[in-house]
Amino acid sequence: MPRVLHLPLFIAFSAWPALLCAETPPALGVGVFVDFDSAPGSASIQIMKDEVEKLLRPSGISLDWRLTKQNRGTETFPRLVVLQFRGRCRADLLSQPPEDSATLGEARTLASTRVAAGRVLPYGEVECDEVRQALSYLDPGAGAIARQTALGLALGRVVAHELYHILARTTAHAAHGLAKPTESFEDLISPRETPFQERDSRAIRQGFRKQ
Ligand SMILES: [Zn+2]
Repeated sequence: MPRVLHLPLFIAFSAWPALLCAETPPALGVGVFVDFDSAPGSASIQIMKDEVEKLLRPSGISLDWRLTKQNRGTETFPRLVVLQFRGRCRADLLSQPPEDSATLGEARTLASTRVAAGRVLPYGEVECDEVRQALSYLDPGAGAIARQTALGLALGRVVAHELYHILARTTAHAAHGLAKPTESFEDLISPRETPFQERDSRAIRQGFRKQ
């Protein structure tokens, strides 16, 4: 994982080793099965979904969200992705700001995607306790709605980054845009969006169509 120095706090998206699953893609629809250790409020979840869908729209990908626990195995999707949200995805919990200089400049892993034998698997994990640290960059007086919105945006951008790895079937990163390996907490919660570069959106579309 890259270490980022000279900046207050950066996070790293990463991909680690592990199997693959591929379905025939007649359309660019993806079933996204999610499971939370501790689910965010409904407002944060909706903002997360909206953000991911907006970021993937240039790829032509559409998403169908499902809860893993409610899966009865009766639906089929051209592609499947399973996301596990670990820790507490709660906007109402206080976030600890960086405690001392020892933590400054550390790259933190917000999410990861499994890879096996060099192949990216459709399984991602989001570290909610790490993503939640972004809330400490809000104004101290930020209210409940602002916190829920910020958490939803941060989760959405982290999820979109992992879906890039999974759908484009790559562990590579870009130099710019949302496919780059690190992102600042400030940018994760910013109203100003960091989209994928056109070439990364194209890689997602082409990866989806690969058998
Ligand atoms: Zn990454």
